[in-house]
Amino acid sequence: MGDCPRPMGDKCQHEHFMQKAIKLAKQAADAMEVPVGCVIVHNGEIIGEGYNQRNTKGNTLYHAEISAINTACNHLGDWRLEGCTIYVTLEPCPMCAGAILQARLPRLVFGAANPKAGAVGSVVNLLDVDGFNHKVDVTTGVLEAQCAQLMKDFFAKFRRKSGDGCGNL
Ligand SMILES: [Zn+2]
Repeated sequence: MGDCPRPMGDKCQHEHFMQKAIKLAKQAADAMEVPVGCVIVHNGEIIGEGYNQRNTKGNTLYHAEISAINTACNHLGDWRLEGCTIYVTLEPCPMCAGAILQARLPRLVFGAANPKAGAVGSVVNLLDVDGFNHKVDVTTGVLEAQCAQLMKDFFAKFRRKSGDGCGNL
């Protein structure tokens, strides 16, 4: 991890920043949103963060990753997020995987896989397509159990409240 001056191992650093993303995911859950949280790190510093606000904003674009990319771009004053690492609690959807490519993010770290909608290996893998000239270094399974539990707890609560069994993202 050349972008982090901290004397931490890869795993330790990944867990540190994933904890921050988990905190944001809990904010989403508190607002009755599917709990997904995201931070973007540059030189060991968080420069972008977001959590799912799709229902709150009434807008499909307000995924955690898009909001985090938005704040990170504002911070750097650049659409390119070169040298940054994006941490997200859940495997990105096709829209967010596309945004990660477009932002030229070199590294993605995610917690839990998303078997129904994940675009980084579960349903498709948009970050590993030979035809695209940008490649993303992907690390999966960081604090996976905690990230998956957030989703399980949320959908258990949601089903009890609404009686709706739909857990699709
Ligand atoms: Zn998304």
